[in-house]
Amino acid sequence: MRYSKYFIPTLKEVPAEAEIASHKLMLRAGMIRKLASGLYTYLPLGLRSIRKVEAIVRQEMNRAGAIELLMPMVQPAELWKESGRWDHYGKELLRFKDRHGRDFCLGPTHEEVITDLVRKHIRSYRDLPLNLYQIQTKFRDEIRPRFGLMRAREFIMKDAYSFSASAESLDEIYQAMYKAYCRIFERCGLDFRPVEADTGSIGGHASHEFMVLAETGEDDIACCTACSYAANTELAEVKPKSQMEPFSPGTSTLKKVETPGKKSVEDVTDFLNKKAKELVKTLIFLADERPVAALVRGDHELNEVKLKRVLGAENLEMAGPDAVERITGAPVGFAGPKGLTSDVRVVADHAVAYMKDFVAGANEEDAHFVGLNWKRDLEPPETHDIRVITPRDPCPRCGSAIEIKRGIEVGHIFKLGTKYSEAMGATFLDSTGKEKPIIMGCYGIGVGRTVAAAIEQNHDERGIIFPSPIAPFEVIISVINVKDKDMLSMAEALYDSLSQAGLEVLLDDRNERPGVKFKDSELIGIPVRVTVGKKAVKEGLVELTNRQTMETRLVAQKDLLEEAKAFISK
Ligand code: ATP
Ligand code: MG
Repeated sequence: MRYSKYFIPTLKEVPAEAEIASHKLMLRAGMIRKLASGLYTYLPLGLRSIRKVEAIVRQEMNRAGAIELLMPMVQPAELWKESGRWDHYGKELLRFKDRHGRDFCLGPTHEEVITDLVRKHIRSYRDLPLNLYQIQTKFRDEIRPRFGLMRAREFIMKDAYSFSASAESLDEIYQAMYKAYCRIFERCGLDFRPVEADTGSIGGHASHEFMVLAETGEDDIACCTACSYAANTELAEVKPKSQMEPFSPGTSTLKKVETPGKKSVEDVTDFLNKKAKELVKTLIFLADERPVAALVRGDHELNEVKLKRVLGAENLEMAGPDAVERITGAPVGFAGPKGLTSDVRVVADHAVAYMKDFVAGANEEDAHFVGLNWKRDLEPPETHDIRVITPRDPCPRCGSAIEIKRGIEVGHIFKLGTKYSEAMGATFLDSTGKEKPIIMGCYGIGVGRTVAAAIEQNHDERGIIFPSPIAPFEVIISVINVKDKDMLSMAEALYDSLSQAGLEVLLDDRNERPGVKFKDSELIGIPVRVTVGKKAVKEGLVELTNRQTMETRLVAQKDLLEEAKAFISK
């Protein structure tokens, strides 16, 4: 490809809307352009990287026995009503009507469509297992699209769905997908970790997320420093302390004190000269419309995913100011476990059971209790693991120290079980002729997010440093002076020979100063630069620059192919 005839609109300025490195660099390197919030055009360079990731995904999925198909993006509401998700998916599902007034949506995922397909064609256990996948555009009306392709509204996903006659068969496919995902992300040059994950709204039994480690990631992962345990903090278990007796008595007398306008943990504890861990934080929720008070220690953070699971709630939301006032009798900031009416379910974190002489809201404006003790002053609540793990907690598997790292979720695999097959009547006849629901799994990879994550992990102040398997081009040939006919024709000859040998080469034949060409080549991050200058014409020597290390060596033209190949390990 000749740069002069290609379309790479690089930018000198850092676009104001971009916050993280990958987003800034993808805009500056001319890989993507924003059309509207969360909607992007893939420019030629961006598209080439996306296609590379797709090719790796396709190869590894095929190798693992999955079969490619392509489903429509527009989906009829009837299927979503059958699965029950038309009412539960929420506003991320973009719904609309066709000219006949029928309801449709843009597919954010394809469980319904694929289950409908399979139920029409699978009859017997002999037709199973089956693992079908597509690489296709999804639409999710994300509440806060951000970070470019990282959290877009329209994005390309590889989604696979497996259908099995037995739990063992699902296990086998799940393992095969797990391995395929590891190979895919290794081949994309990413530093990643598979972590145990919550199954979210899709539901099911087991799930792993594939996390690319990066400071700017939106997920927190608890990683053990000793064993291989790694889990999303949405799920990471916190073991209760075992040495002490829960709900033991304290020594202070109970008092109600005035705390005018003191609402936050910090305000109250500063005012009363207490520590955050001496206060019980009381959060009021509505779980499927019913009031719940969740208690955590003042220095801990409630984990809503865990709370939702403990309550078995379909829908969990923080109560608004009016609801808090109705439920507790006091404005927001003064709720506490003592004196709540019996219709409020009180659920405490395990750590709360070991608190004595503690502080809590008095369910009265501008008042808190101090010196509260369980049993003596109020009924002990039910306790569960409902808080977010901290670096001070031990690894739930081996007891060693854990660290919290940040990650970008690039892939997600789920064991779905029979949730969709039961709801939608996707059954098969087993070997005894009995009708059973098909056991399903689903497996997603964000293609654009993978490219963005690779850039997030591989860049420097000059620009992108593409891992060669997903680089838009492998080699860039920069001609120092295109007006020098000998120089240009030498560069063209090199371009031909490298291209013929199977390398993907971009020939920078623009009539620009060398500095401009170098800057652009570094910004767009092509792994190898070949500079053709005077030495090439006179002595047959070209410069080879490694984008990663920025080391430059002189190489004889005849050795160029071997050297370039070695660089990108092709
Ligand atoms: P997240 O928690 O980041 O919203 P998710 O759990 O909703 O992700 P899945 O439903 O598991 O994601 O989708 C599979 C994959 O699709 C994700 O692992 C991710 O790589 C990608 N993905 C999901 N949402 C987006 C988005 N808004 N933009 C780009 N990629 C996305
Ligand atoms: Mg999401």
